[in-house]
Amino acid sequence: MDGMPKGLRPERADIDHAYRLDDRYGRTEGQVYLSGTQALVRLLLLQADRDRRAGLNTAGFVSGYRGSPLGGLDQALWQAQAHLDARAIRFVPGINEDLGATAVMGSQQVESSGEGTVEGVFGLWYGKGPGLDRSGDVLKHANAYGSSPHGGVLAVAGDDHGGVSSSMPHQSDLAMIAWSMPVLNPSGVREYLEFGLYGYALSRFSGAWVGFKAISESVESAATIQLPSLDQGFLPVAFEPPPGGLHQRWPDLPGLAIEERLAAKIAAVKAFARVNRIDRTVLGTGGWLRIVTTGKAHLDLMEALRLLGIGPAEAAEIGLSVHKIGLSWPLEPDFALSAARGAEEILVVEEKAPVVEGQLKDLLYHLPAGERPRAVVGKTDEFGARLLPATGELRPWIVAKALVERIGHRLPERDFSTRLADLLPDEAPAATGPSLARTPYFCSGCPHNSSTRVPEGSKALAGIGCHFMASWMDRDTVGLSQMGGEGVSWIGQAPFSKRRHIFQNLGEGTYFHSGLLAIRQAVAAKATITYKILFTTPSP
Ligand code: SF4
Repeated sequence: MDGMPKGLRPERADIDHAYRLDDRYGRTEGQVYLSGTQALVRLLLLQADRDRRAGLNTAGFVSGYRGSPLGGLDQALWQAQAHLDARAIRFVPGINEDLGATAVMGSQQVESSGEGTVEGVFGLWYGKGPGLDRSGDVLKHANAYGSSPHGGVLAVAGDDHGGVSSSMPHQSDLAMIAWSMPVLNPSGVREYLEFGLYGYALSRFSGAWVGFKAISESVESAATIQLPSLDQGFLPVAFEPPPGGLHQRWPDLPGLAIEERLAAKIAAVKAFARVNRIDRTVLGTGGWLRIVTTGKAHLDLMEALRLLGIGPAEAAEIGLSVHKIGLSWPLEPDFALSAARGAEEILVVEEKAPVVEGQLKDLLYHLPAGERPRAVVGKTDEFGARLLPATGELRPWIVAKALVERIGHRLPERDFSTRLADLLPDEAPAATGPSLARTPYFCSGCPHNSSTRVPEGSKALAGIGCHFMASWMDRDTVGLSQMGGEGVSWIGQAPFSKRRHIFQNLGEGTYFHSGLLAIRQAVAAKATITYKILFTTPSP
């Protein structure tokens, strides 16, 4: 700490000397230091404590499947076992994501069964993006069947926007929207507790499962977080539910009523969000330029403003204001309209697909000409030219560049080119000097070092897991399928191939998760394939 620059060095008076590691779960007020993963655990404890304070006899239930960026949630839950036990929160890891989701669906049946030992069970499902994709059937049905009035469910999607530890980048909110599942999009770990409690209240009110985006950059970071009050509740909402209500019930037989109830749930979500605002204006009011943000992109925008040296006073001079959307789908219309009405231009800053931007355009289309902004820009400008990328991840300098471009169009006298030039990375990396790039390899001592070799002339198919690295090790290992599909692609290829046989690498974790079914498919198809079950977990 002595080596720290003076401005960054905490003053002695700021240091909480009484703080202990377990305070992250044990403290009841003040500040705690939490990683995103730990914040999800703390959220469950808070929900239980709030229910008790409100005189509600609830329990909690958690299931799902680990995988980056939620690779450590199971460990964090086990480490907090005593805290979970004290609050009747059960954690049962799924053998895969969809069966975990099915178990969470069951937790919402406790209330309507008439046989429950508690008044309701709040559930939490978790999985990484591909796990959410494979769980589409159950998540879609579970959301339609609904949560229970004193339970509620958060579906936590570990979204790897940058594709840093996944077969490809993913954005789970698009799938959630397809299932009519509302989506909360916290900007960072500091908002996990607030957004999570909001999600449970929203789920209880609307009967919907509530999606919660936990992107790598937030869930894998940590922050000092102010604990919310246990007494702080939500405002009552006037909403007339359809006959039979919005929540989980039985019988709930197939038919159009389920679809109609889904539409009513979304209306209830908007009604709740209208009264209990999670969308906020965070800088200025009005102005010709309204910047609308959501999720981590909000922090990118605020950092871009800081780096450009645009504080509140200069923002007011320029004529810009910033409006942050917490519920990224469905967009709550009252807030969105109040943020947009009378603007000349709206710049939407969000990572990946234009989820908020598209909804905003729909909403504004029917405004009278005098109230409708001249342009809503984001992924492209008003002429269709690319402005902010819809792929990869945003960075503050990317947002700064787009912002300077928009300000420059309207106010050419305001020249930010010098400030911007300082932010932009060098176009070309240095041709000389040490490179940080290093091709990953198996750990020393890992069985994969030898088990992924194949006899000369043979070929192997790769799969999900560390053993995929064999693909770049000159080991005649090719291809990739989704987790649980290992070897099945060979069934479609073999009849048309000169090759008579192939090996398939399959980690024991994947075998347990879903790979067994792939083997059954290969047997059923009489495929000429040899599965190598790669066992790396050491014996206890
Ligand atoms: S399976 Fe385990 S030991 Fe092997 S490379 Fe992966 S992390 Fe390392």
